[in-house]
Amino acid sequence: DQRTKLSIQEQRQCLPIYRLKEELVKAVIDNQVLIVIGETGSGKTTQITQYLAEAGYTASGNIICTQPRRVAAISVAKRVAEEFGCRLGEEIGYAIRFEDCTGPTTVIKYLTDGLFLREFLIDNNLSRYSVIMLDEAHERTIYTDVLLGLLKQLLQRRSDLRLIVTSATLDAEKFSGYFFNCNIFTIPGRSFPVEILYTKQPESDYLDTALTTVLQIHLTEPEGDILLFLTGQEEIDCACESLDTRMKGLGKNVPELIILPVYSALPGEVQSRIFEPAPTGKRKVVVATNIAEASLTIDGIFYVIDPGFMKQNIYNSKLGVESLIITPISQASAKQRAGRAGRTGPGKCYRLYTESAFHTEMTPTTTPEIQRVNLAETMLTLIAMGIRDPFSFDFMDRPSSPALISAMEQLYSLGCLDEEGLLTKPGRLMSEFPLDPPLSKMLLASVDLGCSDEILTIIAMVQTGNIFYRPREKQAQADQKRANLFYPEGDHLTLLGVYDAWKAKGFSGPWCSENFVQFRSLRRAQDVRKQLLTIMDKYKLDVVSTGKDFKKIRKAITAGFFFHTARKDPQGGYRSLVNNQIVYIHPSSALFHRQPDWVIYHEAVMTTKEYMREITVIDPKWLVELAPRFFKASDPMKMRKRKCLEH
Ligand code: ADP
Ligand code: MG
Repeated sequence: DQRTKLSIQEQRQCLPIYRLKEELVKAVIDNQVLIVIGETGSGKTTQITQYLAEAGYTASGNIICTQPRRVAAISVAKRVAEEFGCRLGEEIGYAIRFEDCTGPTTVIKYLTDGLFLREFLIDNNLSRYSVIMLDEAHERTIYTDVLLGLLKQLLQRRSDLRLIVTSATLDAEKFSGYFFNCNIFTIPGRSFPVEILYTKQPESDYLDTALTTVLQIHLTEPEGDILLFLTGQEEIDCACESLDTRMKGLGKNVPELIILPVYSALPGEVQSRIFEPAPTGKRKVVVATNIAEASLTIDGIFYVIDPGFMKQNIYNSKLGVESLIITPISQASAKQRAGRAGRTGPGKCYRLYTESAFHTEMTPTTTPEIQRVNLAETMLTLIAMGIRDPFSFDFMDRPSSPALISAMEQLYSLGCLDEEGLLTKPGRLMSEFPLDPPLSKMLLASVDLGCSDEILTIIAMVQTGNIFYRPREKQAQADQKRANLFYPEGDHLTLLGVYDAWKAKGFSGPWCSENFVQFRSLRRAQDVRKQLLTIMDKYKLDVVSTGKDFKKIRKAITAGFFFHTARKDPQGGYRSLVNNQIVYIHPSSALFHRQPDWVIYHEAVMTTKEYMREITVIDPKWLVELAPRFFKASDPMKMRKRKCLEH
C-alpha cells in the first residue's frame, strides 16, 4: 500500500495545504479574522494549528481548535500528537465534557465547541489563548454560533488575538460578511469525479436497501472501501450485525469484508481502526453517522451509500418539547457525503432516494441548530457571562423570539432567573455545572432533599446513556437479565440500581458481561460522577445519601423534569401535561409492562411513534410543591396547566 510506505512527515507533505503553508501563516499574521475553506482531507484541522505553532504563536498563549463532535476532537488530537511526536496530553491535548487530556506543557488543544464556550465563563478575555480556530463552522452547531458572536465582541478588545473560521463548504461568504467582510483563504481541492446514482422509486426500507447495496458493491465492484451513512448508534450496531450475518451466509469463497461502526459513543480503540487501510484482497465498510460527512477524513473510500437521513434534535417551542427525530438531510449534506467517494480516485455515490426527492424534498442547507433546539442551557450560559439581554445578542442567524421567550420561561420556572430576568443565586450555581438546566436543577433539589449521592449517580448514568446491550443472537437472554435489574419505580432507579450493583461487585467487568451491561458506559458514568463530585465540592454542596427512601429521589427528578410530566390516557398511551400530546412508554423501559398513571420522562424520541425514554413513576401532588413557578402562577397559560392537574 502506497500510504503505509510513506513516513508520517511525508504524508503531511502530500496534503494540499502543505504548499500554501507560508502563504497561510502570513495571512493569519495580517488578518485578525480569516475564513479558511477547503475540501475535507486537505489538512485544515490537523495542519493549521501546527503551522501556527511553528510560526511562534504558542509563545503568547495556547492554540485552540474547536470541534462540534467529541469523537473528532479525540481522533484529530491523537493524529496531531503522532505527527508532532509527543504523547497525547503533552504538547498536544484534547478536552471534551467530563474528560480533560491536557497538561502543563500543552500548547495545542482540540476541544468541543460546547466545552470551549465554558472557557468564556472562566475568563471572558480568553487571556490564555493566542489563536482560536473554529473548525467545521459550516455545521452551525449552537455552540459554534454563540462562540462566533462572543468572539466577534472579543476581537475588538484583543487586537493580538487571531480567529480562524474553517468550513468545508462554500458558505464562506456568509461567515466573511458576519466578520465585516474579512478575507477568505481558499485551499484548492484535489478531488476526483463522483458518479451519482439515484434509485428509480422511493425506498420503503432504507436500511435493508443500504445493506443489500453494500453486499452488491462488495461482490461486483472493483476494489475500494465503502462508506455507509446511517443515523445513530442503534441503527449502526444493528446494520453491522446484519451485514456480518449476511456475509456468513455467503460462505467462505467470498472475499472478506471488514465491518467498522463509527459513532460518538464508541471506544477510541475501535475508532482508530477506521483509518487503517484494509489489507490487500479485503474490503472495508465503514458504517457511520454524520460524523464522517466532514469531521473525520477516511482515506480509500470509493463508494458512498447515502440513504438521505440523519438524526436531529428538534425543539418545538410552542409545544415545549424536544425530540430526536430522523429527518431528511439537506442538499448540501448530500453533496458533502458524495464528495467522500472522490478523495482517492473516481468514485460512486449511491443515493437511496430519487432524483426528484433530492430536488423537491431536501432543503438547500441544514437549518442552524440555534434555530431548532431548546435554548435554555445557552441562554443560561450567556446570562451567567453577564450578557444582560440575550435578545439583542449579535447572532449570525437569530433564533426566533418565541424560542427565546420559551427558554427564558423555562429558566424562570426552574428558578434560575427572577421576575426581571436576572440571574438568581441557584441560577449562578446551575450555570457552573456542565449540565442541561433540568439536570442541574435536579441536582440542587437533591441537596435539599438529602439524596444528592443517588442523584449524582443517576445524572452520570443518564448522561452516559447506552447502558444495556442486546446482542441479536442472545436477545431473549439479555431481556431476561435486564428485567431482573428493573425497579418498579422506573428507569432512573433502575439505572441507580445497576450502578450500585456494579459497585458492590467491586466495579467488575465480568458482572457487566453476565448482565448484558456495557462495561465501558459504566466506567464513563463513574468518571462523570467523579467530575460532578469535584464541582459539588468546590461549591460546598452536600453529598448525602438517603439510603432506601426512593420517594425523595423521585421528587428530586420531578423538580428538574416537571416539564416532562405525562398522564395515562384512557384511550391508550399517555398525554403530556404541557401540551396534551400523545406519547408512549418505550418498550425498553422498566415501566413498559406496568403503565402507571403518572410519569416523568427524561427525553422524548420520535421513531415510529413519540416515545418517552428514562421514565419514573411520580405522584402528581408533588408538582405544585416542587415547581411552584410553573404550576401556581396566575397567567392564563399557567392556569390551564393547573386545571389540568386538578382534573
Ligand atoms: P481537513 O480538516 O481539511 O478535512 P484533516 O486535517 O482532518 O483534513 O486530515 C488531513 C489528513 O490527515 C487526511 O488525509 C487524513 O487521512 C489524515 N488523518 C486525520 N486524522 C487522522 C487519524 N486520526 N488517523 C489517521 N489519519 C488521519
Ligand atoms: Mg477537518
